[in-house]
Amino acid sequence: MELIYRSTRNANETATASEAILKGLANEGGLFVPDSIPALDVSIEALAQMNYQQIAYEVMKLMFTDFTEEELKHCIDSAYDKKFDTPEIAPLVNKAGANYLELFHGSTIAFKDMALSILPYLLTTSAKKNGVKNEIVILTATSGDTGKAALAGFADVPGTKIIVFYPKHGVSPIQEKQMVTQKGDNTFVVGITGNFDDAQTGVKKMFSDTELAAYMNEKGYQFSSANSINIGRLVPQMVYYVYAYTRLVANGSIQAGDKINVVVPTGNFGNILAAYYAKEMGLPIAKFICASNDNKVLYDFFKTGTYDRNREFILTSSPSMDILISSNLERLIYKIAGNDAEKNAALMKNLTTEGVYTITDEMREKLAEFEGGYATEAETAATIKKVYESDNYIMDTHTAVAATVYDKYVEETGDKTPTVIASTASPYKFTRSVMNAIDEAYDSKTDFELVDELNKLSGIKVPQAIEDIRSAAVLHDTVCDKEDMLKVVKGFLNI
Ligand SMILES: *Cc1c(COP(=O)(O)O)cnc(C)c1O
Repeated sequence: MELIYRSTRNANETATASEAILKGLANEGGLFVPDSIPALDVSIEALAQMNYQQIAYEVMKLMFTDFTEEELKHCIDSAYDKKFDTPEIAPLVNKAGANYLELFHGSTIAFKDMALSILPYLLTTSAKKNGVKNEIVILTATSGDTGKAALAGFADVPGTKIIVFYPKHGVSPIQEKQMVTQKGDNTFVVGITGNFDDAQTGVKKMFSDTELAAYMNEKGYQFSSANSINIGRLVPQMVYYVYAYTRLVANGSIQAGDKINVVVPTGNFGNILAAYYAKEMGLPIAKFICASNDNKVLYDFFKTGTYDRNREFILTSSPSMDILISSNLERLIYKIAGNDAEKNAALMKNLTTEGVYTITDEMREKLAEFEGGYATEAETAATIKKVYESDNYIMDTHTAVAATVYDKYVEETGDKTPTVIASTASPYKFTRSVMNAIDEAYDSKTDFELVDELNKLSGIKVPQAIEDIRSAAVLHDTVCDKEDMLKVVKGFLNI
């Protein structure tokens, strides 16, 4: 049966999976959500015998029902190949009393690769299926990691162009270097004088501008999104939770059917929402522990039922989580509002106009599986040092936020349920913060000296992604004001 996707802001706007992937965002700023989430139709025991690609197929076939088996397997096999530095794709590593699901073994060493390595294939397949003749312009706002992963995924993909906006002063030096050295004639990278939310708001505005869409169409272009609001990103992220669970079964840590908890370092709420969707598909998950850094708008939301972005935006050592508007939360709000687009749209309107909304008590009751936590900068650094010293395992700053929140959660609740912590970036991506956490004396060294020091301490090979940028030339140097994003896009497209 065909799965229908529907806008969170208009019950009458529907799409097939391939249409939703192509469009990215629904009209009126809505997000596409599946009408229902089908149950896994293979047993956990059978899944435990499968590899990553096979599990990916079992999950995606249920969500992308208008793709043929051949199309889906082509997308999966093209994405999850030698670009990853391990055949496991997402290894599960048991350290310091938890299971770290390492989602950073792809070409840009952050978890965004898990979805962005497949999105270009899903998108070009969707374009073909729907007879699209226009060139597709991928418009993306990034807090650091999406940008590079999207650039790498779409570079030189025929029929596409990709334009990435990042906060000029809001990403790590290595993140910036990774982006501005990107090769490919169809790639464009822009630093904006503003923060991530400004970049995301600017991109969303261009998406929902219907006059602009008509003008683009006249010129042979149409926008699509590589941001985590695209269901073509969300669904591939469900896969690794199923994979992690079945590895725990395979290695005897749990029995099929036992519940686990998951802890996710959260920014735009895409990763943790994918875990929630995986549960809807039948994965036994008890708690979703949503970990924030000092930008703890989600922590406050889960505590109080009020989402309030009216606060200072804080730059932290986990920049990919420096976000005050978590876009994917809207999909959860829609769900707990009883799939009521009108109710959801009213709340989102309040968020746009007042920067705040409050959910009803009835809606709050449906959030019982969610637990919010946050970690300060000092706590995050202390966790990196502690786990390095106890287990000789060096984690990145984002993962350390999650590990800290997990420690606090266990201390407060005594809940010893086997737990998977999403490890979202390689420590090599945030080398300075990671090394400073271990010893402040490292701060006097250059970024690439620190890379070599990290290599000495961890014994983990320097990833190719880092080797590649050591001497790479800067190819992109556009900087613009947040008001001028549209002008820049038109300039790139010569329209
Ligand atoms: C994007 C990102 C996050 C946040 O993920 P969301 O899906 O936006 O919640 C966390 N850690 C890292 C390293 C990231 O790149």
